[in-house]
Amino acid sequence: MFRVIILGSGPAGLTAALYTARANLEPLVLEGHLPGGQLTLTTTIENFPGFPEGVEAWSLMGAMRQQAVRYGALCRPESAVRVDLTKRPFEIETEKDIYRSQALIIATGATARMLGLDAEKALLGKGVSTCATCDGAFFRDRSVVVVGGGDSALEEAMFLTRFASSVTVVHRRDQLRATKLLQDRAFANEKIQFIWNSVIKDILDPAQGKVSGVVLEDVKTHRTRYLPCDGVFIAIGHTPNTELFAGQLELQDGYIVTKGGTGTSVPGVFAAGDVQDRIYRQAVTAAGSGCMAALDCEKWLTEVGYL
Ligand SMILES: Cc1cc2nc3c(=O)[nH]c(=O)nc-3n(C[C@H](O)[C@H](O)[C@H](O)COP(=O)(O)OP(=O)(O)OC[C@H]3O[C@@H](n4cnc5c(N)ncnc54)[C@H](O)[C@@H]3O)c2cc1C
Repeated sequence: MFRVIILGSGPAGLTAALYTARANLEPLVLEGHLPGGQLTLTTTIENFPGFPEGVEAWSLMGAMRQQAVRYGALCRPESAVRVDLTKRPFEIETEKDIYRSQALIIATGATARMLGLDAEKALLGKGVSTCATCDGAFFRDRSVVVVGGGDSALEEAMFLTRFASSVTVVHRRDQLRATKLLQDRAFANEKIQFIWNSVIKDILDPAQGKVSGVVLEDVKTHRTRYLPCDGVFIAIGHTPNTELFAGQLELQDGYIVTKGGTGTSVPGVFAAGDVQDRIYRQAVTAAGSGCMAALDCEKWLTEVGYL
């Protein structure tokens, strides 16, 4: 039995752990299948405040965990496989155990949708990216490819033109899903080209540990061709990790709906980070909302008389 259980060990979960631990709530953190969260899928982070030279992602996340543990957070390498939010205390089942808690902070993040290529996995953080805000500055005077046809693909493409010498948007259809305004802006941008009716069949070159080009296939003619480039940005959407909560919490497009801070549709359940944020999706915003969830949680525990 815990006062608070935190699901997730990314920036949101570990910041919530630090704050609840320092408030003497002795939180249990269930770290999930990706200890340290999404950031650990990349290498250097240049936009987390406090590190003028940048910081290695594993080092940043290791330090966050260490700091939370130092103040009393208990971290376990387990994933929640079932939650029951209709019971009080809440019940959280993992592969190993069943835990109970008075409050729950959900920080299970979101997963960027990928193309499903082996090369993409091997080159993630080494030229393949899912975040132009995070990685755009690494591609100064380079040529990059953006995959996708929605608003976020065009926003990423336009952001990248501040750095890259050329940006090629590859889309599997012959027209975009993005809003007209964004389309007009993208078509007017001289640095952006479009390749229609095409998909990426392969990314080269994992053997060199960097991106040197992509193999494109025309979906109509099935002809393939090689396009040299230095980076590939996958902008085909994100899936919030919320399957466990379907039917128990109010969700919108899969994201947990939060109101008045980090509270959810169930009193005592709070959500922080990318699992409830489809807009900002940054380590620092996730950490900020982890702090908010911890403070909201502590206030709620006090108000209902648990503390
Ligand atoms: C390749 C890449 C590079 C990036 N680069 C940057 C960057 O340079 N700067 C920046 O600010 N942002 C960057 N981001 C975005 C940033 O990583 C995310 O915005 C941030 O990690 C979100 O934090 P979070 O804590 O909400 O979730 P996540 O980091 O996604 O963490 C989710 C956590 O939940 C856990 N979990 C999931 N399901 C369960 C479950 N059932 N039970 C228990 N635990 C569970 C996972 O194990 C994980 O620990 C990058 C993202 C990627 C993918």
